[in-house]
Amino acid sequence: MYLVTKAYLFKKDSCKSYVLNGDESMRIILLGPPGAGKGTQAAKIVDEYKIPHISTGDIFRKNIKEGTELGKQAQEYMNKGALVPDELTCGLVADRISQEDCKEGFMLDGFPRNIFQAEMLDKFLSEKGIELTKVVNIEVEKELLVARAVGRRICKSCGATFHIEYNPTKTEGICDVCEGELYQRADDNEETVSNRIQVYIDETKPLVDYYSKQGIVATINGDQSIDKVFDDIKNSFGK
Ligand code: ADP
Ligand code: AMP
Repeated sequence: MYLVTKAYLFKKDSCKSYVLNGDESMRIILLGPPGAGKGTQAAKIVDEYKIPHISTGDIFRKNIKEGTELGKQAQEYMNKGALVPDELTCGLVADRISQEDCKEGFMLDGFPRNIFQAEMLDKFLSEKGIELTKVVNIEVEKELLVARAVGRRICKSCGATFHIEYNPTKTEGICDVCEGELYQRADDNEETVSNRIQVYIDETKPLVDYYSKQGIVATINGDQSIDKVFDDIKNSFGK
């Protein structure tokens, strides 16, 4: 059930099967501009902490590939680097984090992306009596972001992320993990990336203040080696 009205974005029914957990559950948000390294770190976090990785961008891209109605609607916004409307986005996240595999925790990557989405998420979680554990805010200078996104290459088969210069594969165009073929995202061109960065500054960056007021933000310097960034993230979790 993806198409929902703004007034009823988070379905009450989807909360019912959710079992409340103890304090050990990790409910993480990865925040940061396009190209900050969220997807790269998400793969490492999943590996280490075994929590589901929920990327709204990945969900939209999967729907585009499969030619679904959601994919068709999302594509026109994604091609411009604009945000997909909240009506198409919030419901699908609510459905996803209500699933069984999210009972022990989850990691959101690319959601929320504006104050409205954050408020909806807070409402949804508080109705279940659960809280976010940490918001990992990965900071990278604006000047580095375009080069990072434009040089990004992703494996068609396993989704692993590489960079033609900063994190190259052993064989050009071939995934190191599964030997799948690499591709470049349609929205990883200079013009669209610039738009996406501006959208981040205008709409998403205010979430750093929003979550700072809740005392759960860990700001991480993303302009370090991939492993060093991951070490800093692990230290911020304290486990
Ligand atoms: P995001 O999910 O935040 O958009 P990605 O994780 O896809 O960002 O990273 C964007 C690009 O930058 C990828 O090509 C990735 O290989 C590269 N990258 C990620 N982290 C680093 C880093 N610490 N240093 C250099 N390049 C990085
Ligand atoms: P990402 O994969 O996170 O870089 O997202 C790629 C694109 O998907 C964005 O530029 C948006 O068009 C769209 N998108 C992803 N997540 C959201 C979201 N939470 N809200 C609105 N649009 C989103």
